[in-house]
Amino acid sequence: MGAVGPVDQLGEPLRLLLDGLTPTASSSIKKLDDGGYNVWIVGGAVRDALKGIVPHDIDIATDASPEEVIALIPQAIPTGIQFGTVTVPSKEGDEQIEITTLRSDGKYTDGRRPESVTFGTSIEEDLERRDFTINAMALDPINRLLIDPHSGRFDLENSILRTVGDPLKRFKEDGLRVLRAYRFMAHPSGPYLPDESLVNILNEGGVTSLLAHVSKERVLMEMEKLLTFPSVEDVLIRMERDGILSFVFGPEWVSVSLEGMDDCFDDEVDPWALRIARLALLLRRTNPVSRSSLLNVLRMSGQNCSAVLAVCLRLGQLPDPMNHGQLRRYRLALGNHLGAQLAADRCLDPSLANAVHNSLIVLPPLKAGDNPLVNGLMIMERLSIETGPELGRIKSQLYRVQIEFDLSDVESVWEVAGDINGSDKMWP
Ligand code: ATP
Ligand code: MG
Repeated sequence: MGAVGPVDQLGEPLRLLLDGLTPTASSSIKKLDDGGYNVWIVGGAVRDALKGIVPHDIDIATDASPEEVIALIPQAIPTGIQFGTVTVPSKEGDEQIEITTLRSDGKYTDGRRPESVTFGTSIEEDLERRDFTINAMALDPINRLLIDPHSGRFDLENSILRTVGDPLKRFKEDGLRVLRAYRFMAHPSGPYLPDESLVNILNEGGVTSLLAHVSKERVLMEMEKLLTFPSVEDVLIRMERDGILSFVFGPEWVSVSLEGMDDCFDDEVDPWALRIARLALLLRRTNPVSRSSLLNVLRMSGQNCSAVLAVCLRLGQLPDPMNHGQLRRYRLALGNHLGAQLAADRCLDPSLANAVHNSLIVLPPLKAGDNPLVNGLMIMERLSIETGPELGRIKSQLYRVQIEFDLSDVESVWEVAGDINGSDKMWP
């Protein structure tokens, strides 16, 4: 468990990480090395690679200053220059390469941000400021060395979540680390069990209040990352028990059963839909008016907020998976919330939600597309009526018939709808 070890003796996973770097990552590393600077891959990428997971982002630490990095890699964007971070856009896809100058954090006085950051030259010092041992390893890609002063690899192999240093001190520096502790327990590279000192601190309950110093944006971001993981049920139960959920969502939040939260996940659900689904489930018993103000307090974007509220309202209203008319209406009404809605309903009734999902996969697109075939003018002419609420009602009912029966021409819509003046059998 040495602090420093050669990669090629440390096994396949790190070798794969180094040999499989994207061209953007390798060229960034090469440019820094050619410029005479030291460079390390740090944090999540090393952790995930050691667990055999292909990392989605590569974080790089260097002793070059941000200005020196930009001089060597002109396409780097100064995304967090006050903390020494620049981002290199990747040509290959959505992988992000963040390059951060080695730093040691100054004193924390407000429980959320260091008062000052000092750019440094020591990778060991840089690892010291990181939150958990599993996140505090560095890989030197040039000399092919793993630097692991806090025994992160040992903790990783034993699935232990341990803070770098005293947990209470580290949580007091930055209250967000409390939430990060829960998030990493459920991390897909784990799960991890908190070590004894961490358990003791979390069980005491007092650390919840440290979160109060943290900006709502950071809290929401951390919550959203957590809610995207495949298995979250156990950690959410723990967070509820420790008072974290009620702290995050505020006094108006009404607790819910967390059973089935893992059923929201499957390989096909996209991360956005999964997050929206789980947020909707978490808020499903909270008063609808409080729901939206609570999401506003968390600074959720308008679009995401509407998605959560819409999914909440339709929970438990799945269509009959054998009824194509209902399925067609359901699909159209939900639009781009469909994935989130089905993911949320899978928690409450997995077999029905899966049956609906399977029926929707084979349901052909609407023959006439998504727009109404019969417009207001046509209705006014045909039925000799004026504009007004009656027109609106008829218009939407004709549209509903069109979708339900998948009609493709105007005459069929009128025909199937029947005699509007005479019968209202089609108009529930
Ligand atoms: P993920 O794959 O989930 O993004 P990650 O490890 O990359 O995991 P990030 O939140 O992206 O997590 O942070 C990158 C690294 O920065 C972490 O691995 C950790 O070393 C360090 N870090 C991030 N936030 C904090 C914090 N609040 N306190 C201390 N270290 C932190
Ligand atoms: Mg990351």
